[in-house]
Amino acid sequence: MTITYVVENGLYVNMTNKCTNRCDFCIRKNGDGAYGSDSLWLEREPSREEVWAAIQQADPTAYGELIFCGYGEPTCRLDDMLWVCGQVRRAYPAVKIRLNTNGHASLIYGEDVAARFAGCFDVLSISLNAPSAEEYDAICHSKYGLAAFDGMFSFASRVKEYVPQVIFSVVRQFLSPEALAECQRLCDEAGVPLKVREYIAD
Ligand code: SF4
Repeated sequence: MTITYVVENGLYVNMTNKCTNRCDFCIRKNGDGAYGSDSLWLEREPSREEVWAAIQQADPTAYGELIFCGYGEPTCRLDDMLWVCGQVRRAYPAVKIRLNTNGHASLIYGEDVAARFAGCFDVLSISLNAPSAEEYDAICHSKYGLAAFDGMFSFASRVKEYVPQVIFSVVRQFLSPEALAECQRLCDEAGVPLKVREYIAD
């Protein structure tokens, strides 16, 4: 079971394969491995203690960043992830922690959970993916339908108050130049930097 894996100078944590989206570009759709790991499909979800043990074994101080990512949406296990973050903060206060998320946390729990991220992360990277609810749904096929985009966007606006660095990301190959420009405009308006990333096919 692959709980942690390494990409470049980052130590990645894979806690769940659950997700509220089914994105067209998801690496989950492209075989069982990614980034040189044998398999990021978990036969069962590791306990929070198993995740914490795997992180200690991998020695996060040897990497530039510890990143909660997936094969899945980490906030589907919000309590467990925040517990693990607390362990990391106490044991390795110098380790930088990032969360890659689809931004659905408040939708998942049916309430504003942004304040719970305070002190846990240095960086949140939120997948913007598209410039409108309709275009988002066409790419991401969320279980929340058209509400997913606004839920994600308002979570980003709220969580900025609690996390030092919040960025939006989009995948260049899935956007027209006009859509990309509109994403940039939305990000500028929200005061959130935009990272344009390339599609990674496994
Ligand atoms: S939000 Fe992330 S994990 Fe979920 S389907 Fe999209 S790319 Fe995959």
